[in-house]
Amino acid sequence: MITLEEAIAKLKSRVRPLPAEVIPVLKSCGRILREDVRSSFPIPPFDKSAMDGFAVRAADIIAASTNKPITLKILEDIPAGQVGRFRLKKGTAARIMTGAPLPKGADTVVMVEDTETSGDGVIIRKTLTRGSHVAPAGEDIKKGERALSAGTLIGAAEMGMIASTGCNKIKVAIRPKVRILSTGSEILKPGTARRPGHIYDANGYSLTGLAAQWGAEARFLGIAADRKGALERKIARAADSHLLILSGGVSVGDYDLVQDMLLGMGIKQIFHKVCIKPGMPTFAGIKGKRIVLGLPGHPVSCMVTFMHFAVLVINIMLGKLETGPHRGKAILTAPLQMKPDRRKFLRGTLQEIDGRLTVMPFHAQQSSVLKSMITANALIDIPDGVSELKAGKLVDIVYL
Ligand code: AMP
Ligand code: MG
Repeated sequence: MITLEEAIAKLKSRVRPLPAEVIPVLKSCGRILREDVRSSFPIPPFDKSAMDGFAVRAADIIAASTNKPITLKILEDIPAGQVGRFRLKKGTAARIMTGAPLPKGADTVVMVEDTETSGDGVIIRKTLTRGSHVAPAGEDIKKGERALSAGTLIGAAEMGMIASTGCNKIKVAIRPKVRILSTGSEILKPGTARRPGHIYDANGYSLTGLAAQWGAEARFLGIAADRKGALERKIARAADSHLLILSGGVSVGDYDLVQDMLLGMGIKQIFHKVCIKPGMPTFAGIKGKRIVLGLPGHPVSCMVTFMHFAVLVINIMLGKLETGPHRGKAILTAPLQMKPDRRKFLRGTLQEIDGRLTVMPFHAQQSSVLKSMITANALIDIPDGVSELKAGKLVDIVYL
């Protein structure tokens, strides 16, 4: 059996980024940027006033104090959106509004609250360091500077930044088409009547949710019984997919047909069986550019293996910078004992206690207990060979 790292490396070597498309920036939230964003001009493009007040030359007010106020002659008004007509010479000022460009010759803005006016003069009673209340050109982004890198997840700040560079369209990765198929003759469609010996489909729904959460265009293909014909018919419906995910039927039971059937359909095996718990029977294959993942049927195994393998495939297809789920470290709040057989991923809940990130393992770690995934926001990564972990130990975690 191969290790998780070996399985990830094998899969990585087979997946390629999908093409990009150009879309309106307003519709880009949640998409992955596929080009660097640079600004062809500084942002802000000019030295601008950060306050309503008076644009002055700092040198003119260097000696200003309550006892010795200085009066400057007001040359003009500069509202936001207008450019001043005059250059400030010694002893002059311009009334300026927040966002307006500083007039030539000015280097400092005095807040209106710190001034008085008298006729066409402004009285200033305190000195200011040069540059006060001025947002200099390029304060945010310099001309030619890279504001965003290809592979970035576009969120609110990124949308604003792209727009600041003057673009209203942007190149993003197309959404991978992920198709999901639940297998198992005991699996029932929710919304239909209960039947003896049957259970409702959980995996089709959790996998469709996960795929959507990770930025794919997810579609559920339905349920196929453990019969070759039924499986093949449903799989044929995924012909347009970039990633096909099946749940169930990948173990070694008499009715676990998925692996043989996929191989029979010309899908080449990338790996089958990984030394992890949960998720040991996971299958990965490829046909053309389409990746096929066969995930174990236990609802927790299915979601955890999605995190290991499907997230990787989707992220590479999207051209994301970080290809795996986000990892970190936290302090274990309760002791753990286990069989030292395989590398394990236990469900846990992160909580900040006294400013330190802790993780509390869920009490029921069976891979059939789906409610552990509802409470959990992290997986605790336990190396193989470990039989005991004491409370207080720093452990690796995978964010869910
Ligand atoms: P399998 O991987 O097919 O051996 O299934 C392992 C366990 O997961 C069995 O108890 C199945 O009934 C259960 N299971 C399989 N598929 C699903 C599903 N879609 N929803 C809920 N449980 C499932
Ligand atoms: Mg089954």
